[in-house]
Amino acid sequence: MELRYKSTRSGRTAAASEAILKGLSEDGGLFVPERIPALDKTPRELGQMSYGQVAYEVMKLFLTDFTEEELRRCIADAYDEKFDTEEIAPLAEAEGVWFLELFHGKTIAFKDMALSILPHLMITAAKKNHVDREIVILTATSGDTGKAAMAGFVDVPGTRIIVFYPKNGVSPIQERQMLTQKGDNVLVAGIHGNFDDAQTGVKKLFSDRELEKEMAEAGYQFSSANSINIGRLVPQIVYYVYAYARLLAEGRITDGEKINVTVPTGNFGNILAAYYAKLMGLPIGKLICASNENKVLFDFFSTGEYDKNREFVLTSSPSMDILISSNLERLIYRISGDDASKTALLMQQLSEKGSYEITEEMRERLSDFYGGYAKEQEAFDKICSLYEDTGYVIDTHTAVAAAVYDRYREETKDDAPTVIASTASPFKFARSVMTAIDPDYAEAKWDDFALVDELSRIANVEVPAAVEELRAAPILHHTECEKDGMEAVVRDFLKI
Ligand SMILES: *Cc1c(COP(=O)(O)O)cnc(C)c1O
Repeated sequence: MELRYKSTRSGRTAAASEAILKGLSEDGGLFVPERIPALDKTPRELGQMSYGQVAYEVMKLFLTDFTEEELRRCIADAYDEKFDTEEIAPLAEAEGVWFLELFHGKTIAFKDMALSILPHLMITAAKKNHVDREIVILTATSGDTGKAAMAGFVDVPGTRIIVFYPKNGVSPIQERQMLTQKGDNVLVAGIHGNFDDAQTGVKKLFSDRELEKEMAEAGYQFSSANSINIGRLVPQIVYYVYAYARLLAEGRITDGEKINVTVPTGNFGNILAAYYAKLMGLPIGKLICASNENKVLFDFFSTGEYDKNREFVLTSSPSMDILISSNLERLIYRISGDDASKTALLMQQLSEKGSYEITEEMRERLSDFYGGYAKEQEAFDKICSLYEDTGYVIDTHTAVAAAVYDRYREETKDDAPTVIASTASPFKFARSVMTAIDPDYAEAKWDDFALVDELSRIANVEVPAAVEELRAAPILHHTECEKDGMEAVVRDFLKI
């Protein structure tokens, strides 16, 4: 049965492949599946399958206008030796919780889980829809998406990719990863502003009809690799299903036993995928939404008011430094009872005054979620204590989640088995991680790569190839611009 996608802001619908190509609906809304399909394999059956097979079983239910052959090909091209482990998303136990390591792909952050497959889905979708224009991927990044998207799209025929990142808002390793990206079809620009400025600028370019017309004349059309694209969301559901099936297959949980899932959250894409997994019938209890000091989501879950009018805090978990959580719109839509006009109104309030408030009735539908946040020091303390107790080292984002989970457990006494989404390799944030373990590492003699080597030594983990190859890689990109200069950068790159 075909599953269509509806815009959260109007009655418009699209097939899966169209929704992937467009990224965002013309009315500014996000595409959501018109219903959430139920899993048609049991966790026991899924426990016998490889990651790729589970991916197929989940994604076939959402991407119904892809043929079996197309989808299996996309999956095979995505989840291959690019990942440094055959399991793709292994589970590591420490202090009685399960860290779902989502950082074994090319850029060692969880964005690889979806961005390894998105280019294949998009090219397949373009063929299905007889698109002959070149697809220009336009992306705002808080650090990890940009590199992962470039790594996915580099040299993919018929595509170009332009990435905007906040010039002073990413880690040194993240910046280096982006600025050393090879490929004629990629461009990276640092903007003088924060992530929200970059994201707002990108959204504006997407909705600029004049620019769209000129691009079409020159043979281009925009698409998005941001987490608003359902081609990112759907592949993220897979690893929650896979994790549950693995835990069951290994006898760590019993059939039907509920697990909690804790997710370090920024744009609300990853945790939304876990929510969709739950709605598909996966036995998930609480969805624990962990924020850093940019705790707009924590406040939203505690008060029902979303308010982005506050100071933007630069933290050592930069991929979560976000005040406008784009994917939350999909949850708003759901708790409004799939009411597009209500959702559109709230989003209009968000863009006009920076805040909105949901009704009591909507709040009651949020009971699957628990919102928490961790301060910088709490996240650092967690990295340190976990390392001292177990030898296991987590990155700064995962540490926010682990600290919030500790608080949740203390508050609620809920000791259900728990999976924490481990969203980045500690090597990506070596400086913060190492100084959390021992403040002496802040001394000047420790440059970024010395810290990487030291981390490898103390954690007894090999330096990932993604970091290793940065040592000698030349800087290839030098573009910077002001917040209002993004359009000029795009025009210059496309020569229009
Ligand atoms: C993007 C990212 C997050 C936030 O994920 P969302 O889907 O935007 O909520 C958390 N941690 C890391 C390392 C990330 O790259």
